[in-house]
Amino acid sequence: MYLLGKFDPAQENNFVEIDSKYANRQGMFLRSEAYETFVKMHTAALEDGVQLTIVSATRNFESQKYIWERKWSGKTLVEGKNLTKSVSDPVERAKIILRFSSMPGTSRHHWGTDIDLNALNNDYFLKGEGKKTYTWLKENASDFGFCQTYTPKNSTRPSGYEEEKWHWSYLPLARPFLVQYTQKVIYDDLKGFLGWETAKELCVIENYVLSINTECR
Ligand SMILES: [Zn+2]
Repeated sequence: MYLLGKFDPAQENNFVEIDSKYANRQGMFLRSEAYETFVKMHTAALEDGVQLTIVSATRNFESQKYIWERKWSGKTLVEGKNLTKSVSDPVERAKIILRFSSMPGTSRHHWGTDIDLNALNNDYFLKGEGKKTYTWLKENASDFGFCQTYTPKNSTRPSGYEEEKWHWSYLPLARPFLVQYTQKVIYDDLKGFLGWETAKELCVIENYVLSINTECR
């Protein structure tokens, strides 16, 4: 199922490969409509002296599983720590990974509508070029249908991922996908990766997939 990322975007007619002038590497894909609109936003930003660079786009189940399992098994350090050594409880381990990474099957990057821009680091966006870029996006991205999905947590977004100043969603497509996700995906669908058993206990659909910036709902 598309919503779970179980497909290869390179084989799909409604996905296109992102031109390398818009990205930091080759071989990334987006849904055509999201891409065409991104190109317009990129042009408008450039006219204002802002360079938007896609650093991640569509990630299917397999690529999200790779990211998740490397963190789960300690191959990728999380906040400087090997989680197999520092956190033995599976639920606690999942919670730490979930600060910034989705479980396979729950990422909006599966949908082909979401992009990460410029740097996967909130500090980058606090000064210099990064600050200029973020300020531009806050003022203009909504004109193109893009929304910052993970804003700081507050009373309207009490749970979920930490703030990600780099993650932007193309709402004309992502909104209906989120509705479909809530209607179709059940916890039995979330399996096939290390630590999958924790998904239900952590209510990842309610607490992560649905816990987004209210402006992106
Ligand atoms: Zn992202």
